[in-house]
Amino acid sequence: MDAIILKRKDIREYDQIVTCLTDHFGKQEYLIRGVKKIVSKNAAHIEPCSVVDMEFVSAKSGDMLTTVYTTQYFSHVKKDYIKRLVADMLLTLVDMCTTTGEDLTVYPLLLETLDILNTKRPLLDPVYFIDRFVLYLGKAVGISPVLEACCICKSNKKDDTEYILSIKQGGICCRSCVPLEGAIYPFCAEYRTILTMSTCNMSLRQQGLFHAYLHHHMSFHSPQSIPDWGNIKKWLNVADLCIIET
Ligand SMILES: [Zn+2]
Repeated sequence: MDAIILKRKDIREYDQIVTCLTDHFGKQEYLIRGVKKIVSKNAAHIEPCSVVDMEFVSAKSGDMLTTVYTTQYFSHVKKDYIKRLVADMLLTLVDMCTTTGEDLTVYPLLLETLDILNTKRPLLDPVYFIDRFVLYLGKAVGISPVLEACCICKSNKKDDTEYILSIKQGGICCRSCVPLEGAIYPFCAEYRTILTMSTCNMSLRQQGLFHAYLHHHMSFHSPQSIPDWGNIKKWLNVADLCIIET
């Protein structure tokens, strides 16, 4: 079975629980025994953000990993500070937006996105890259914002300026269909093209507003509130300052 390691946590002195996204069973947790012992041959193979080939057995205490081998390591991601931060955020978002055994389309989506991130080219716009991933992730788990037609009357014939984005309704609505108060955001036609455009064609203001909307939408409709991946920009600025000062 193939799997992408999402995270791991310690239990007892030498054991860990590994959370991973598998190609056959969606998100799963496995117990891995003795992994913190110096002689453990599995320890190096359960690094988060690695693709592994694994085998498990079902036991009373839960499913237990027996063998695990890394098949893909994403070396360009792990060597690049920005990409590493982005990859960690993708893993966190997948973990927080999915439930155990969720839709199997998330595995190929995450694998393809990590492959794209792993190219030698630098990542110019980390927040836009994650915004696009989140739209695809939302589609895979059934909570993406509706951007095609009004969530209430289903009209898609109006001028784009006649729509607004409603958090509660889950996407665009005619201004005449919802009260213009509470959690609403402006809508612009460029938002419909984000899934097809790998580079951003929006102004900085539009991009910032869309990001704020998308994060609010995902937090509202996900099983749990999710971290704001836009904070990556702040962390990168702090890292730049540290590099200049040393
Ligand atoms: Zn409407």
